[in-house]
Amino acid sequence: MIVDSEERVLPQINLDLCSGCGTCVDTCPSEAVALIDGHPVIVHPEDCAYCGDCEDLCPEGAISLPYEIVFE
Ligand code: SF4
Ligand code: SF4
Repeated sequence: MIVDSEERVLPQINLDLCSGCGTCVDTCPSEAVALIDGHPVIVHPEDCAYCGDCEDLCPEGAISLPYEIVFE
């Protein structure tokens, strides 16, 4: 799969697993995530640095980063 600079891959949030705890919102260094009506939403996708912190710290395992982009 080829992703060009215009196309962004974002963390996937499984709302069936999410408890709405807000940890991902508190964790995100870019403030890319916010709770809206109790559900996390990537409100600023352009700010997501794909750091993986939300995936690592979500207590429910509800967030996954589909793949990591590696620059050679
Ligand atoms: S950290 Fe996980 S369980 Fe908590 S609001 Fe974010 S996605 Fe939902
Ligand atoms: S991958 Fe990092 S920058 Fe992107 S939403 Fe998660 S914590 Fe925020």
